[in-house]
Amino acid sequence: MPRLIEGRTVAEKVYAELRSEITELKKAGRTPGLAVVLVGDNPASRAYVRSKDKMCRDLGLHSVKLELPADTTQSELLGRVEELNRDPAIHGILVQSQPPKHIDEATIVGTIDPMKDVDGFHPANVAKLTLGDESGFVPCTPLGCQRLLLESGIEISGAHVVVLGRSMIVGKPLALLLMRKGKGGDATVTVVHSRSKGLAEITRSADILIAAIGQPEFVRAEHVRDGAVVIDVGINRVDDATMERGYRLVGDVAFAEVSEKASAITPVPGGVGPMTIAMLMSNTVRACRQSSR
Ligand code: NAP
Repeated sequence: MPRLIEGRTVAEKVYAELRSEITELKKAGRTPGLAVVLVGDNPASRAYVRSKDKMCRDLGLHSVKLELPADTTQSELLGRVEELNRDPAIHGILVQSQPPKHIDEATIVGTIDPMKDVDGFHPANVAKLTLGDESGFVPCTPLGCQRLLLESGIEISGAHVVVLGRSMIVGKPLALLLMRKGKGGDATVTVVHSRSKGLAEITRSADILIAAIGQPEFVRAEHVRDGAVVIDVGINRVDDATMERGYRLVGDVAFAEVSEKASAITPVPGGVGPMTIAMLMSNTVRACRQSSR
């Protein structure tokens, strides 16, 4: 059996470090604050917002949950974001993704103060990641994948990393992060997507294969070379009448058969998922540390 890369265990380590940093900040009279803005009543988004709020409270952070009705106008929403930009008690702001269609997400994200953009989606932070400038915020899921690899003692430098998926949330920033110069980077990165030819041949050449495509159990044994490290970012709901809630969660990797070949693998759930929220907390604490207020 391969080594199981347990995201929950690594996330706990991150929280332990953050707790002592938060204690120090509080002694200096500063409490990191995170505002999460949700427009509309998408149940999955609500659940994400609740879990972020709960984690803030567990850590003793100041948490603001702004739940706005689905008919909130673009200018109302911009106004709320600008208020949060000015609020000295708030160091991190994120707008939960997939707002209603009349809201232009890019405009909203572009309005967030880049110093409070703990999701790392503001163009200024995307540019910094692209330029290899470490002063910007990096999106939480890629950061979580990198931290999992580092904490598991997996050599990234010089490794051939194949990233499946090129989204702005996961695939693209992850590729940039792992090819950045220095610790946690220096990988040789190949990105494949839905138009890639010879996908299995490329993924089989990976020392580290990271799947972020949103296709349940797409990665099979034939995609993986013996001894590869496999990181599964996917979270997919698959109907399952045997489960009380009517579905089960699976990743983008067919866990059982890929486990026969991989040297280390993340489970779903309990792999990358817990790291994403841990990195959000980490970015928020960093935003507070770096702010003048
Ligand atoms: P996305 O925006 O839908 O992007 C999916 C990417 O995968 C696209 O680049 C797409 O290619 C590519 N793709 C789709 N089908 C493919 C196929 N058959 N072969 C090769 N490439 C294919 O998804 P996302 O937001 O990046 O999320 C990906 C997965 O990660 C989802 O399951 C999501 O739920 C999960 N996720 C998990 C976390 C976490 O915290 N664990 C966080 C974020 C996302 P094209 O560009 O060519 O269309």
